[in-house]
Amino acid sequence: MPSMTSGPIAYFNGAYVPVEDAKVSIMTHAFNYGTGLFEGIRGYYNADEDNVLVFKLPEHIDRMARNCRIMCMEVPEDQAAIEEVCVELIRRSNFKEGVYIRPIVYKSECSLGPTVKGVASSFCCYIITLGDYCDTQSGLDVAVSSWRRLSDNAIPSRVKSTGGYINSSLAASEAKQAGFHEAVFLREDGTVAEGSAMNIFLVQDGKLITSPPNADILVGITRNTIIQLAKEVLGLEVIERNIGRSELYVSDELFFCGTGAQVAPVRSVDRRVINGGTPGPVTLKMQSVYFDVVQGKVPEYRHWCRPVY
Ligand code: PMP
Repeated sequence: MPSMTSGPIAYFNGAYVPVEDAKVSIMTHAFNYGTGLFEGIRGYYNADEDNVLVFKLPEHIDRMARNCRIMCMEVPEDQAAIEEVCVELIRRSNFKEGVYIRPIVYKSECSLGPTVKGVASSFCCYIITLGDYCDTQSGLDVAVSSWRRLSDNAIPSRVKSTGGYINSSLAASEAKQAGFHEAVFLREDGTVAEGSAMNIFLVQDGKLITSPPNADILVGITRNTIIQLAKEVLGLEVIERNIGRSELYVSDELFFCGTGAQVAPVRSVDRRVINGGTPGPVTLKMQSVYFDVVQGKVPEYRHWCRPVY
């Protein structure tokens, strides 16, 4: 498990409060029906600048705002105000280390009945300090899950809904109980979707291959970042297409990516060893570029990093 320490300050009901005072009723709609949606955003500590840099903050808040439409949600705070809350929480908590920001929009009414229309929503946000979410050095042992990925016509994965994470929880737990680090979801049609909380990339003949946006995935902001950096910095071809399960076993290299996962090499799938069980050269290059970019060290992409202090 990642090491987590609760940040002392949260944003709740329009005010900055100690996180222990940010509490909802057991009758809350989102608590009963899973009608919340959220984001996960990282801030990286840059020691040279003695500052925390929040990565792709507007992109995360934009995704959340778009997903609010699917869930028929409206909140008083606009996107700029929500971005400000995220940054302000780090300042008020006085964090000078790696942080993880968790904005949530949720159906906050205490009303009965599963519906998205006509139930009032609220915005809240908390932060924690966070190091690695999963191992990024030695490679992960992963297993194809017996649980299928949620389909877009059931609970859209792109929503990043609280209720939808039952699916991820079942798959991740199954994998861990069986002695693996992580799970890979297949879709109902048997093609590869993603990990429990991360997107997946194959390296084949020097090209990157990843599932397309309509493959029941959360269209990750890290995924989009990797696609752009692979093309622009490493000059790689990137192909978005459906992936068959057995392609995982025969790939040259495999890696997960996500805000939490960052760029995490995969060293085996269902006990089939990938690249001799060590992170491959393309994965390592990708990882190195990614870590430089998120820490604000690459001038061309510095605009993706928002300084907090
Ligand atoms: N898929 C799922 C199911 C996730 O929970 C996450 C983490 N947010 C991702 C992919 C990666 O998305 P992002 O890069 O935007 O964090």
